[in-house]
Amino acid sequence: MKQVNGEKLLTSLGDGVKNLRGRLTPNAPMDRVTWFQAGGLAELMFQPHDAEDLATFLKMLPQEVPLTVVGVGSNLLVRDGGIPGVVVRLSAKGFGQLDLMGDNRIKAGAICPDKHLAAMAMDNGIGGFAFYYGIPGSIGGALRMNAGANGGETAERLVEVHAVDREGNEHVLSNEDMGYSYRHSSASKDLIFTHAVFEGYPEDRAKIRADMDAVRQHRETVQPVKEKTGGSTFKNPEGHSAWSLIDEAGGRGLMNGGAQMSSLHCNFMINIGHATGYDLEYLGEMVRQRVFDKSGIKLEWEIKRLGIFMPGREVRPFQGATTE
Ligand SMILES: Cc1cc2nc3c(=O)[nH]c(=O)nc-3n(C[C@H](O)[C@H](O)[C@H](O)COP(=O)(O)OP(=O)(O)OC[C@H]3O[C@@H](n4cnc5c(N)ncnc54)[C@H](O)[C@@H]3O)c2cc1C
Repeated sequence: MKQVNGEKLLTSLGDGVKNLRGRLTPNAPMDRVTWFQAGGLAELMFQPHDAEDLATFLKMLPQEVPLTVVGVGSNLLVRDGGIPGVVVRLSAKGFGQLDLMGDNRIKAGAICPDKHLAAMAMDNGIGGFAFYYGIPGSIGGALRMNAGANGGETAERLVEVHAVDREGNEHVLSNEDMGYSYRHSSASKDLIFTHAVFEGYPEDRAKIRADMDAVRQHRETVQPVKEKTGGSTFKNPEGHSAWSLIDEAGGRGLMNGGAQMSSLHCNFMINIGHATGYDLEYLGEMVRQRVFDKSGIKLEWEIKRLGIFMPGREVRPFQGATTE
């Protein structure tokens, strides 16, 4: 059953949309965007041509229309009822650039893959970015999630972020303005990041190459990187590893419908066939309940869950949860 009505929303925006250079798609399937390959429809997807086009669109979008931005979907669980309102997905043409700025600085567009930034830094003998080689997301997702791995994280390398707000006004945020903590930024949820400036340090290229190879090899051994997954499902609680809590609670290999906690890395959830958003989220709450029952620890979702449930297929947070 379809819950969103993109054609109606598009019509309600009027003739102004004819001046846009980007692409508007009513009822866009989000299972084509997310790494899980699951989830409902985006009511109306907008892929802006460039930053100016994005600002023009935001200025014409009525305040009451919900707005969501996505990167390449490697950290997203979309519910089966779809995402109401507009989903902005940045285009590679307008937001995928990488520029060397001098002084070990690199400017990266928000849809640029983290891996490309790591590769450019290596080519130019700039250290500090090898950790990005193992993260399959985009720079926009990394800025929002404070993505990190192998001892490095976004907050360590970031100089400034350029963004637009819900009204289409431009902002420049310093590293401090991003309010970073572990896999979290307290920057306003209204902001769409368009590009950012990063700074590394001089380092031998062979050393960077070796670090990047080590990152890749490690991942291929311990993570189900070739599966339909969303990366780490839960954040590591202070002083604990989420995977070991899940393992001790009997979560390794646990299944619900087409969803399973990976046997290779049990904090990774995978779509083993035709998992729905419901299968995945319900499995996550089953795991949270088991871990709480076993250890008294409340796991917090790292994966971002977006959209609305199908009627009759709501997932209630596990009993120990005090929020959500
Ligand atoms: C196999 C695998 C391994 C992974 N390993 C790691 C890892 O080691 N470390 C790690 O940190 N993560 C890891 N992840 C998770 C994921 O890759 C990161 O969180 C990544 O930064 C998400 O980027 P994305 O472009 O996919 O964002 P999405 O998943 O599309 O979105 C994630 C969040 O970012 C927001 N967002 C995206 N773009 C923008 C923008 N332009 N402006 C504002 N907000 C934006 C979205 O609204 C959403 O809240 C892994 C995922 C997979 C599938």
